[in-house]
Formats: sequence, C-alpha cells, structure tokens
Amino acid sequence: MFPERFNNKTNGVTPRRWLLEANPGLASAITEAIGDHWITDLSQLSRLKLLADDSGLHDAFHASKRDAKVRFANWLKATSSQVVDPDSVFDCQVKRIHEYKRQLLNALRIIVCYDRLRQNPHMEFVPRTFFFAGKAAPAYKLAKLIIKFINNLAGTIDGDPVVRGRMKVVFLPEYNVTLAERLIPASDVSNQISTAGYEASGTSNMKFMMNGALTVGTRDGATIEMAEEAGEENMFLFGLTVEQVQNSQGWYDPHWHYEHEPETRAALDLIFSDYFSRNEPSAFAPIRDTLLTNGDRYMHLADLTSYVQAQEKLGDLYTRRGEWARKAILNVASSGKFSSDRTIHEYATQIWKAEPCPIP
Ligand SMILES: *Cc1c(COP(=O)(O)O)cnc(C)c1O
Repeated sequence: MFPERFNNKTNGVTPRRWLLEANPGLASAITEAIGDHWITDLSQLSRLKLLADDSGLHDAFHASKRDAKVRFANWLKATSSQVVDPDSVFDCQVKRIHEYKRQLLNALRIIVCYDRLRQNPHMEFVPRTFFFAGKAAPAYKLAKLIIKFINNLAGTIDGDPVVRGRMKVVFLPEYNVTLAERLIPASDVSNQISTAGYEASGTSNMKFMMNGALTVGTRDGATIEMAEEAGEENMFLFGLTVEQVQNSQGWYDPHWHYEHEPETRAALDLIFSDYFSRNEPSAFAPIRDTLLTNGDRYMHLADLTSYVQAQEKLGDLYTRRGEWARKAILNVASSGKFSSDRTIHEYATQIWKAEPCPIP
C-alpha cells in the first residue's frame, strides 16, 4: 500500500578504522599516489584507477601486503605459537558461523584441494593458508559442530606430510573487531560465499575490498554492488543466482551431485568415513544429515564445483604478480561507495532530513 515507506541504504564501513588505522602500509601507498583527501572522501579512491598499470604502485601494493602478512604471522606466532608462511596465499573466511554463510562449502573445497594433492603430490599448487574465524550463537549446535569440524580438518592436514608446506588451515578463536583489524589487511582472498538470497548486505566483504583482497563470492548481498563498482572481470563470482535458488524446490537433489561428481563424492566420503574424526566415530554425522540426507537446504553441493573452479582461476592469477596487483588496485579504487560516510549522508539527507550544523 505504501511502497514509498520502504527504502534501502547500502551499508558502509569507516575508512578511518578499516584502512587508515588498520593498514598503515597500504594507506601510505595510497596517499603517496593520490594525496590524502580519500581519508574524509573515500570516493577519491577512484583516482587510483588511472594508476592501475603503474609498476611503482604495483610494487608499493605488493610491499604493503607482504608487510601486513609478516606482521600478522609474527603476531600469531607470539600469541598462539602457530606458524604460517607469509609467502603462501592468505585465503580468509571470517564471519559469524551460520549454515547460510556456508563455512561448510569452504571446508568442502579445501578437502577437494587436499584430496587432489594426496592423489597427485607432484601437482602444481600455489601454497595456501586458509584462515577461518567466527563465533557461533550459544544454542546453535550445528554451528558449534562446524567449528569443531574445521579444527579437526586443520589437525588432519597438519598431520599429513604429503601436504606439509603446501596447505594449512587455521581456525582463529575469539573473532572480534580487533582480530578483524589484524587479519583483513594481511588477506589476499576474501571468501563471501553465502547462498544467493540469504545475506542482506555483508560488511566484511567491503573491508576486504578496501584492503586489496580479491573476492571469491556469490551474487548475494552487497557483493553484487561491489561487482557493479569494480566490474565482474575484477572479481571471482560463481554459483547459483537468487532466482535459481528460489526456483530450486522440486529439482534440487544433493544426491545427484554425490552420485555424478567424483570429487564431491570423494570429499564427502572422507568426512563420512571418520577420516577427520578418527577417535570420535560418527562425530560429524549431523554434517552428513545436513548436506545429504536432509536435502542440503543451503545448496552447498550445487555450488561446490563452480567454487573450486573460481578458486583455481584465482590461484593461477596469483602467479602473475602484475595482473594480480592491477585487479587488487582496481578493487581498492572501486571501494569508495562502501564508506559509512556515504551511508550516513544518505540517511541524513533522505530519511532524517537533517541539515548540517554550521561550524563557526
Ligand atoms: C565486519 C565484521 C562482521 C560482519 O562480517 P560479515 O562477513 O559481513 O558477516 C562480523 N564480525 C566482526 C568482528 C566484524 O569486524
């Protein structure tokens, strides 16, 4: 009856916290290139687009990223005695644990990678460190089991000499803003892989974009708007669309993927055979139930193959350092819309009708 009473303002994050303070190295590189107006007017970042092929800026970008990775690795070692390699790809999924956010999809593609390396140890593979962090709501039993599953996966991979130095999984406990401020500047890859239609917005996707990570993501929430700003060719989008998910009742059957996709089946069979729960038989039976027996509500298996392919393309790009820097810089340059200054300005002018105070 009153469509005009409903409206949407795209979220944003504050560039003072998430870029200037969290990532002083990249912030300085940006200021060197375009001056410091971006700090209070993030749309100025678009001026970096003209410099996306500048080899000096490429070098400054790579140097600041490497520096942030070393700082994170040193902090991690000092506080947890875990050792990660700053020359590996830092591949992150950090957010509350929820079925729709699909940490399980990320875990499945890590198992597909792991199984490929086990079957073919001489395969070419750019070393990766997979970071997870996130809290579960206290009564959300499956979310807590997902945390346990990722920890067990990390333990199994650490114990396997075949993949040592090539892949490592780290689950960081106690996810909070302080940890996000440490990890996001050090990230190369941002995983934003919710089932299309379920993420209202997302804001960590914006934080990663601002910090020069490349996004592997579904067409969901604000990731869609990020692609409108940066161009799909500068992101790694994959998977079903909102429309395909909404029309999936009736045709979608996870068993089809289990029966017809050998890599999907091998990954699931490792879980089902207690490979990751040797001393706790059937500990992960509820994961089997959710992914297969109970119909896979969030369509993990439907998106697994295209997710693995998107990540392969990204791994290939990582070895071409100039092209990687170009895409990352174009992402930073396209992140201006995602400042909370712009969001608040839209609220002030379009909803609150608040006039600015004149400052004498
Ligand atoms: C940004 C942020 C979030 C939101 O993350 P999404 O991936 O957008 O859900 C959650 N927790 C912390 C600590 C954050 O910094």
